[in-house]
Amino acid sequence: MDGSQGSPNPAHSSLPTFSPSRIEGDKIILKYNGKPTKCPRCEWTTLATNTRAMGSIHRDLETAHTLRLVKYWECGVCGFAGDGPTLKGHY
Ligand SMILES: [Zn+2]
Repeated sequence: MDGSQGSPNPAHSSLPTFSPSRIEGDKIILKYNGKPTKCPRCEWTTLATNTRAMGSIHRDLETAHTLRLVKYWECGVCGFAGDGPTLKGHY
């Protein structure tokens, strides 16, 4: 398994759009529910999705940038940000 199963838009699969992630204080914030993402600090990208996208970007920030950040998700509908369990029950 390459972890790319379930892509909803095969027309874009050759050139994914990297969803921006951002750092706010001690938090790394990704758009829920996890898309291919670019590191906010460098050109590093991950093609992982869902919680693995968060895990990948979190690991890059920790290993490449020595940043230990709290994982936060941002709701794509209203912009509300919270941790995983909070966002899961958000809608
Ligand atoms: Zn990086």
